[in-house]
Amino acid sequence: MSNLKQDILNYFERQKVFGDNIFFESSDIDFKIEKNLSRNDMPKRSKAVEKIDDNSKKSISEVESNTKNKTTPNVSIKIDDNSVNKNWKDAATLDVLYNDIHNCLRCELGATRNKFVFGKGNPNADLLIIGEAPGRDEDSQGEPFVGRSGKLLTSILESIQLSRNDVYIANIIKCRPPNNRKPSTKEVDTCEVYLHKQIELINPKYILALGLTAADTLLKEKNIMKDIRGKILDYRGKKLMITYHPSALLRNPNFKRPVWEDMKILKSLLSE
Ligand code: SF4
Repeated sequence: MSNLKQDILNYFERQKVFGDNIFFESSDIDFKIEKNLSRNDMPKRSKAVEKIDDNSKKSISEVESNTKNKTTPNVSIKIDDNSVNKNWKDAATLDVLYNDIHNCLRCELGATRNKFVFGKGNPNADLLIIGEAPGRDEDSQGEPFVGRSGKLLTSILESIQLSRNDVYIANIIKCRPPNNRKPSTKEVDTCEVYLHKQIELINPKYILALGLTAADTLLKEKNIMKDIRGKILDYRGKKLMITYHPSALLRNPNFKRPVWEDMKILKSLLSE
């Protein structure tokens, strides 16, 4: 039997359906995955097979009219360094920072986003959770980690008695890269300064990066997940932990155990 076929059989063997929920029988971790989600909630499997996003074709006139009409094809990309308050680095609160930068067009991702995804949660949180960039659901709702992987993140937090209101959740990049492509180095460099300011204002005790892509982007180097998860690393003077992205758990339930191990470490660190 091929490995793929065996993997698929193993997958269905492990999962048990109860009511509207799917649990994985082999797991002793109480992460609940909701059933009956729309196709749009499914995790992305491949950039190559993802449907081209019409929102990536918006015209600059839409952007300049505050993105009221989202359907006109794109004719040009405008990068405008004056789209943010020039004093944004002096913002004393997250609300002021948001007001200063939420119309940002300092890289080309500003022209294709639907919504700027600043971040959400407790402005005084001990734990800052960071993903790489908004996906389709985040882009449409303007909030980080919504949709199916966001619900799983909520469950993961609840497994260590945290709610989303206890933590702050943000992305390195504030605007969705079209078709979920990897942001360019230039886009990261342009946008990551906003994350630096968020970290300064929140001043968390710990940062949890979700997924290897986010970890590599923060650490500016290629890593292997097994080498960096479960360790305390450094990001701009803050203690950084790395674990799998919730969407990876949705694709492969075998990742739930390492995530649970990481969460237990994080919980004990946060309660010190
Ligand atoms: S991705 Fe960041 S730098 Fe680029 S337009 Fe959006 S907020 Fe500005």
